[in-house]
Amino acid sequence: MNPLDPGEFRRQGHMVVDFLAKYYENIEKYPVLSQVEPGYLSKRLPSSAPQDEEPMEAILDDVHQHIFPGLTHWQSPNFFAYYQTNTSTAAILGEMLCAGFNVAGFKWVSSPAATELESLVMDWLGKMLDLPRPFLPFGNGGGVIEGNTSEAIICTLTAARDRVLRKLGHNSIAKLVVYGSDQTNCSFQKAARVVGIDPRNFRALKTTRSTLFGLSPDSLEKAIHLDINAGLIPLYLCATVGTTSCAAVDPLEPLCKVASKFSMWIHVDAAYAGASCICPEYRKFINGVEFADSFSFNAHKWFLTPLDCCCLWLKDPNALVKSLSTDPEYLKNEATESKQVIDYADWQLSLSRRFRALKLWLVLRSHGVQNLRSHIRNHCRLAKLFEELVEEDPQFEVVFPRNFALVCFRIRPSGVAGMSNGHVENEHGEAWKLNEVNRLNAQLLHAINASGRFFMSHTTVGGVYVLRFAVGATLVTEKHVIMAWKVVQEHANSLLSMPASEQHSA
Ligand code: PLP
Repeated sequence: MNPLDPGEFRRQGHMVVDFLAKYYENIEKYPVLSQVEPGYLSKRLPSSAPQDEEPMEAILDDVHQHIFPGLTHWQSPNFFAYYQTNTSTAAILGEMLCAGFNVAGFKWVSSPAATELESLVMDWLGKMLDLPRPFLPFGNGGGVIEGNTSEAIICTLTAARDRVLRKLGHNSIAKLVVYGSDQTNCSFQKAARVVGIDPRNFRALKTTRSTLFGLSPDSLEKAIHLDINAGLIPLYLCATVGTTSCAAVDPLEPLCKVASKFSMWIHVDAAYAGASCICPEYRKFINGVEFADSFSFNAHKWFLTPLDCCCLWLKDPNALVKSLSTDPEYLKNEATESKQVIDYADWQLSLSRRFRALKLWLVLRSHGVQNLRSHIRNHCRLAKLFEELVEEDPQFEVVFPRNFALVCFRIRPSGVAGMSNGHVENEHGEAWKLNEVNRLNAQLLHAINASGRFFMSHTTVGGVYVLRFAVGATLVTEKHVIMAWKVVQEHANSLLSMPASEQHSA
């Protein structure tokens, strides 16, 4: 047995590349949302591992026969759900180089290129985003690639917690309070739990339509005062640029001004929308980031880079190092002792780490800043096109103003049988109306996704059920957006043409 035989690697590698190239050529033939039932795979594959080797041909055949049906095709140009995690040839090949070298760059010395390329790429990207000087190495800040935003929040929250507890003593942990909005991604709540914040001290402050579901600085300040009066200690604010539900934007500058008064750590989570800020016209959305302590965005969402790749910058990386570094004898080395190098293991949760910078470096070099900007602008243009199609149809409405490449829309209440001008003509009143409109929109989504023709997801904001059309696939074109809209209309027309009684009970 030779698991790293160069000849076989070349032969099998070509096969896998051909297999994937063919997959991309044919990707539109598959139903976008997988249609399998839970447990489908155990019925198709053997219940124990083979005793003897099997050829790559047979394995790829099984991928085609048995894995494909259970795939939801995230790279399909007809994928408009959640937020995309788009990819590119450059990044896939970067992943291949990463797996091929398979270095564990925990310390600088364990693979200097892994550390130094990561610092370089984060510096390039920081400049592309026009991040303020204190986030970049020449301003004493620095960037690191984490696996995902959840890790970035856990790491920064840990640093914030320890910074306070070093002054006040560990017993104060029960008094620490963290703040976000009811639109902040659920990863924040999980991070707070992991870091030991009392669940009663987790504030998900209510947002409303009046602030377009952005967190209001006044409500933050009021909540902080209430907590201080109750003997608690404000610790951390997670502000979001581009929320998961509807891409709302928290007003960074006024929020930071409030949080800074109480010496809180401010993290800006721009997991999705951060990528757009490489375009000067979108950079305004992170104005105010200069007052924050840390900022992150997921290159694995909208930046042609596959999972996992979260880019995190901090003004004070030492705060992270103080919380996360360890110094066992078996890792001691001269470079670390010289204090001339970064040991990225001290900036993250795990010890070992992948050479993720390679894929990002390949993306930046293979495309260049101008093409990356065009990629973002193209998706925003396509989202605008979809938004215009929705607006032209009186049966539908756009529910929130669009900031990036996400369109939130629904069948409008007056489009539902038995309701005119949004008023319902039966004994159940307003609540009934909202439930019915929500139910009808949910039915529409279900019918569209079950057709397999394209895939969208939903959210509920302020009690309103919303269809989310998120443009982000690498292969998407105008043709796909127009076709998707036709599918929406077809399904909506058939739902809305049902008799009112069936419409309401279907
Ligand atoms: N924050 C925002 C705004 C998001 O939209 C998401 C995921 O969509 C996350 C955080 C979670 O990111 P991750 O899966 O990288 O932890």
